[in-house]
Amino acid sequence: MRTPLVAANWKMHKTVGEAAAYAHAFRALVAEVRDVEIVLAPPFTALHALAGALAGSGIGVAGQDLHAERQGAFTGEISAGMLRDAGAGYVIIGHSERRHLFGETDAEVGAKVRAATGARLVPIMCVGETLAERESNRTFEVLDRQLQAGLAGLAAAAGSLVVAYEPVWAIGTGRNATPEQAQEVHAHIRARLAGVLDESIARTRRILYGGSVKPGNVAALAAQPDVDGALVGGAGLDPGSFAEIVAGTRGLL
Ligand code: PEP
Repeated sequence: MRTPLVAANWKMHKTVGEAAAYAHAFRALVAEVRDVEIVLAPPFTALHALAGALAGSGIGVAGQDLHAERQGAFTGEISAGMLRDAGAGYVIIGHSERRHLFGETDAEVGAKVRAATGARLVPIMCVGETLAERESNRTFEVLDRQLQAGLAGLAAAAGSLVVAYEPVWAIGTGRNATPEQAQEVHAHIRARLAGVLDESIARTRRILYGGSVKPGNVAALAAQPDVDGALVGGAGLDPGSFAEIVAGTRGLL
């Protein structure tokens, strides 16, 4: 069985002090949770402090991006090894804000996924279509292209891969995909994973849904057979609401 995974992407929010306060409150709220993997993705500046504040809790820490090279003259960038060194075990790759605001290409996403697995970081690779692409019936074509490039050359290293389906039209808009829409796409992604990688790998990979996940809608989404958790933006900024999302993922709301 696949252990559900719930990750909060804090984006460009929270200072070191705010991250530590969140960790303190959140640890207490999820202290009994053993059946859901929980990950927090702070800004780089708070990563090391947050990992320290969460030590022994079982809650993981993720980078929000990385550079594909190991080191070098890449001003402003962070490598996979540096993320590990700072306490991360995961990294979000190819978030739609990186793709659309910063021009990240499918090929760059693929290089970053390979760099992450090479450094034994769990890549949380984001894919998703825009509203225009959905309305012109190109959702599956777009996802297939993103998956093909994002997983190129991965092969056996795909054992740790997590995919997050994040329809761009649902991110930060308050408009989430229905559970049925999410299930349809997740089943398609799993079938593509079997084609690009391997049947047995595809069966065991977690596919998260992201896009306006809230305490009130997470249970119905997580109840879908191919939805293995959530990648959460806005509702992950508050420890109470994120703890409720964890509870909803367990069917307890
Ligand atoms: C995200 O940015 O990954 C996201 C899912 O945001 P939100 O939950 O705010 O829609």
